Amino acid sequence: MATLTNPSEIARETLRQLMSQRKSPSPDNYRAIYNQIAGISGKSAEVFPERELKALLLALPRETPVQQRLSRQLDQSLKGSNWEEYKKALVDFIKEHSAESELKWSELISEFLRQWEAKQSRLTPARKRESLEHVLASAGNNSEILFGRLQRLIKSWSQNQAEPDVAGGLEGDVETPKAPVAEPASVVANAAPATPVGRAAELLPELRSLLVYTLEVVVATQLEDDPGLAAQAKTLAASANAATSLKALNELLAEIKRFAFRLEFLAEDRNELRSGLLKLLQLMIDNVGELVVDDRWLNGQIAVVRGIVAQPMNIRAINDAEHRLKEVIFKHSQLKHSLVEAREALKLMLAGFVDHLAEFADSTSDYHDKMEICVERIGKADDIGQLQDVLAEVIGETRIIQINAQRSRDDLRVSKQRVEEADKRINELQEELEKASMLVRNDQLTGTLNRRGLEEAFENEVARSRRRKSPLCVAMLDIDNFKKLNDSLGHDAGDAALIHLVTIIRETLRPQDTLARFGGEEFIIILPDTTLEDAKTAIVRLQRELTKRYFLHENEKVLITFSAGVTDHRSDDTQASVTKRADDAMFAAKKAGKNRVVTGNN
Ligand code: GH3
Ligand code: MG
Ligand code: MG
Repeated sequence: MATLTNPSEIARETLRQLMSQRKSPSPDNYRAIYNQIAGISGKSAEVFPERELKALLLALPRETPVQQRLSRQLDQSLKGSNWEEYKKALVDFIKEHSAESELKWSELISEFLRQWEAKQSRLTPARKRESLEHVLASAGNNSEILFGRLQRLIKSWSQNQAEPDVAGGLEGDVETPKAPVAEPASVVANAAPATPVGRAAELLPELRSLLVYTLEVVVATQLEDDPGLAAQAKTLAASANAATSLKALNELLAEIKRFAFRLEFLAEDRNELRSGLLKLLQLMIDNVGELVVDDRWLNGQIAVVRGIVAQPMNIRAINDAEHRLKEVIFKHSQLKHSLVEAREALKLMLAGFVDHLAEFADSTSDYHDKMEICVERIGKADDIGQLQDVLAEVIGETRIIQINAQRSRDDLRVSKQRVEEADKRINELQEELEKASMLVRNDQLTGTLNRRGLEEAFENEVARSRRRKSPLCVAMLDIDNFKKLNDSLGHDAGDAALIHLVTIIRETLRPQDTLARFGGEEFIIILPDTTLEDAKTAIVRLQRELTKRYFLHENEKVLITFSAGVTDHRSDDTQASVTKRADDAMFAAKKAGKNRVVTGNN
């Protein structure tokens, strides 16, 4: 029989022979007859362990192009049941693997050092360190993963150096969302060829872990002074970790957008804060020359700034401090001038008087002495000649005293003129001081904003609320029966009660709420970023706090209550219209029995 070569013909003949020889169609019988027909004998007829080899092949890594090529060769030799080819491909594979891992670490480290020290556009040493730390943390203890990621990181750095305008590597991926798909070489330099969708899917876990890391570590640590936002960043990180379904991812996307908006606002606030601080510092520097004149005063200024620095940064506190500082500097410079001038004028006048008096007294006592001598000589004079001499002397001395008197009169006239001039100057200075006090924005008793300060704060808050499209509310407070408190405990106790109320308002409301003294015992509170409902809740909370924390007068507990009107600021409102609505609501609270909060809706 001619030897068959076509496998399907051999198979057909094998089945035919199995039937004609009446043998059971077991795999061994089939294989024996098949080999006989195909002319396969001896060693080559041994069973080829295809299944085991396939499992082995699947377990081999296919990360580098060389690994992929060798895997394909192994695959083909397996399909052709070719032991020799399989053996060769496997040996190559192992050689390649060991050669690669031995050789590349040293190369990688020296390349790493080169790129670490090189200057790359848009890459600061801090950013490089951050990326490196991320790679180290994400690779864990797996040296192969670490090798691959380090390789990609170095590549991205070197690309940054060569092409300053092209976003590349890990850095670029974070900043430009399109980069993972559009710039695959820098991200998966050695990955198997895949469709863009497949590659994007592969990148998803890496992107997710990067997002989690960014939110949980990078963003959250930047938000230490805002625990609410920091907590939100951590919650988002947890959601990002858990979001696997499309629906969850969509929700996460919306949440991240909202979070980004809040971050934007925060950045805006921080910028304002920074420029406020800079202005304050500038003011201090500009006035240091003035301040050092009076040590006590200088200490006061430093205490103000120290107070601000000790507290959590807050734009209103800084504005407040800036205004206070401006006022004190202005007043101080005015007062200093007037004081120095008045002191000088007084000194001059006093010195002049003392001199003149001394001179006058000297000359008159001298005159009296001389007159006494003359009188004596007149008494003793024997002839007219002697008398003539004495008279000539008397006339001479009298003339001197006349000249002195005249001089004193002239000097006195000049002094009087100077006093009048000084008086005029002091009046002028007083007028200037009054003008200066027009610039004052804080109430002197309670330290809250006064009406002028309120006007400014109101404008700022309305502008901010328009910009952010956030709600803004205004509350008007009026102490109940304050006249009675004044009448029964005295005006000073009334003053202390006002300060007590202000302290509690400041400690109970948020730092971003603005407090201003509108009149005697009336206060306005501006509540930014607050709905009408929340504003009412805040003022009711304040009311409760005030009933808990008594005002102490001579160790006696005195209960202070207030009535309040709260309203929201509307797009067509002026400061006057919104204040009137709050005032009307406050009046309604008084009419309804006092010690309550009413919202003004119309
Ligand atoms: P109501 O409950 O209706 O508001 O009654 P009231 O007594 O509080 O109101 P009224 O307007 O009749 O009196 C306010 C009093 O506040 C009159 C005034 O003597 C006092 N007052 C205003 N400013 C000050 C201040 O700076 N210090 C002190 N001690 N009292 C002040
Ligand atoms: Mg009143
Ligand atoms: Mg009152």
